[in-house]
Amino acid sequence: MESKLVVALDLMKERDLLEIADKIGSKVFAIKLNWPAIMLSGSRIIRDVSCYSRVICDFKVADIPNTNSLITEKALEMGAWGIISHSFTGHDSLRAVIESAGDMKVFSVVSMSHPGSAEFINPNTDRLVEMSIRAGAAGFIAPGNNPAEIARIRKMSPGRIIMTPGVGAQGGKAGDAIRAGADLVIVGRSVYTSSDPVEQVDNLNMEIDSSV
Ligand code: C5P
Repeated sequence: MESKLVVALDLMKERDLLEIADKIGSKVFAIKLNWPAIMLSGSRIIRDVSCYSRVICDFKVADIPNTNSLITEKALEMGAWGIISHSFTGHDSLRAVIESAGDMKVFSVVSMSHPGSAEFINPNTDRLVEMSIRAGAAGFIAPGNNPAEIARIRKMSPGRIIMTPGVGAQGGKAGDAIRAGADLVIVGRSVYTSSDPVEQVDNLNMEIDSSV
């Protein structure tokens, strides 16, 4: 069975990042790169990590349509498989990401997993899901530490890919997220800070496989 695990490598040392990518790349669905990695190494790191695994660019794109297009085109040029965009910026901004994405998958943030998300994003989840479907997003980012919310978003969005961070360091459990309807589970710190990231990946893959 293909892995449903996406590992977030938010490391601030390029050598460590590439070493873990090499070790786990063939065991995961994708590796997610966020701004820390890009700020450290530049966009070239997308291409380098693509040698080991699919790459999802977690850029949480959140600007005017023209700037969003420029960011998305760069991720595409560097070989990313997917890109994460905010949706609260509105239909035209998200649409610009989708139109510039080529065959990259666009994931729209409709709910977040940290306490502050209760202030603005999470009260608007339903509207963000509805608008993202209209705009043509391939999938959603939903909180892996809130299975009830995953299940609700699953019902609203048949056929879309639900990817869930918030597992491990933020308290969620991979198996619970998958049972609630997630397609892919994102795990960062509990893999890359572990003394044995490969063993952690194997354990998470087993937990996920036994929950489907
Ligand atoms: O280390 P941890 O497992 O908490 O990493 C989660 C990753 O997913 C980080 O890269 C974080 O920026 C990202 N993320 C998140 N919550 C969201 C969207 C993305 O934690 N709603």
